[in-house]
Amino acid sequence: MIVKKLEKIIDYFDRLFPEPACALDFASAYELLVAVILSAQCTDKRVNIVTKDLFKLASTPQQMLNLGIDKLKTIIYPCGFYNAKSKAIIETSEDIIKKFNGEVPSSLEDLTTLRGVGRKTANVVIANAFSGQTIAVDTHVHRISKRLDLTSENSSPYQCEMDLLKIVPKDSRSKFHHQMIQFGRNICKAIKPNCDICELKDICKYYKIKSQTNNKRK
Ligand code: SF4
Repeated sequence: MIVKKLEKIIDYFDRLFPEPACALDFASAYELLVAVILSAQCTDKRVNIVTKDLFKLASTPQQMLNLGIDKLKTIIYPCGFYNAKSKAIIETSEDIIKKFNGEVPSSLEDLTTLRGVGRKTANVVIANAFSGQTIAVDTHVHRISKRLDLTSENSSPYQCEMDLLKIVPKDSRSKFHHQMIQFGRNICKAIKPNCDICELKDICKYYKIKSQTNNKRK
């Protein structure tokens, strides 16, 4: 049952978004790591504008430490949460130098030892900088997985990731993650999802509940 459902979702996503890609601009694993930290509660478009200037001044951990936290704050101010984000970027840069010789590590275990790097950020870096097959559970992936009943309503992001890893074929995971994000941004939005044009209505728990509630009101 779940296999058929997933086949339908993947088929639909492949037609909608045949070549999904990371929307953040980066030229190295370190730049991607910094961009992902900046992208929390901020649009990728704004992050790309900010990093265009930032990476001209600092595109390695040592250059970032040389830049210093005060200058960093002024540059990343437009991304919001600049105090927390600048602290995370500086601490992560220190850890990369101290623990990994200045190179961003490629494994989930190592990446998540860096201060300022959580599981979601690590998975995005692995998928996009190291061509790994991971599923980073962000707000879009989590919401859509619940709506389509691929994970339980009260699951944590970690539980959602484990549920998706069980069912999404290994060689499709990174693509599936990007497709979920595109789908969440364009169709299955947090507020007022565009269900009318969605081809997943017949397998969608959210749509079923919404339709039943609307019928009762009539
Ligand atoms: S039917 Fe609506 S809620 Fe369900 S997956 Fe499609 S857009 Fe999202």
